[in-house]
Amino acid sequence: TMALRPLLVGNWKMHGDGRNLPIIAAIGEAAQRHPGVDVALCLPATLIDRARDACPGLTIGGQDCHAEPSGAHTGDISALMLREAGASLVLLGHSERRRDHHEGDALIAAKVRAARAAGLDVVLCVGETAEDHAAGRSADVVREQLTRSLAGANGPGIAIAYEPVWAIGGDRTPEPTEVEMMAGLIRDTVSGVRILYGGSVTPDNGAALFEQGGIDGFLVGRQSLDAGAFKAILTLM
Ligand code: PEP
Repeated sequence: TMALRPLLVGNWKMHGDGRNLPIIAAIGEAAQRHPGVDVALCLPATLIDRARDACPGLTIGGQDCHAEPSGAHTGDISALMLREAGASLVLLGHSERRRDHHEGDALIAAKVRAARAAGLDVVLCVGETAEDHAAGRSADVVREQLTRSLAGANGPGIAIAYEPVWAIGGDRTPEPTEVEMMAGLIRDTVSGVRILYGGSVTPDNGAALFEQGGIDGFLVGRQSLDAGAFKAILTLM
């Protein structure tokens, strides 16, 4: 099979304001110097249009969207609103959304449909908890999340981020061989998608994960808030 273009996605979560625009600009410049890699930053909604104006070369993403195009849903944001503000991508199904907002696979599937209908690319996050991992259920959990939250969506507008919940926000990562096994499972379940690994990626552990993990790129949290670290990860790809 032909290699897909590498994809590096940063997730700023609930961090950042206008004072951090120079970091976004530095990442945009680094992306322009690495035209062989697609680089995207998923920003707080308040930063999307300013980031789009400041770095036309960078793909800007949101971190969630509602399943409806508009309506009486106080505090929510639609896929069309993200798109109009300058996003061309959205993260969906992140484990922090599943945990903090009790999002389940059926709701996430509706969000995937809404995002695709609005013309947004989707990075869908899947991954097992520490408990599932300890019980040897990782493959079953991820296969079920994929089937239920994608509901048949596939192709180049979708990327799947394998993010073991126990590896996010700490300092543990799976072995590259374990990532490779899960990437194989994802590739056998969904066709034509890019596969990312996410969870405590750093410039130090990134090379082994990228070279041996059977993946097309990374979803990076904390290290995307530091332009130097993020650029160092980009340089590995
Ligand atoms: C994430 O939240 O998607 C993530 C991978 O975070 P971190 O890189 O900080 O573990």
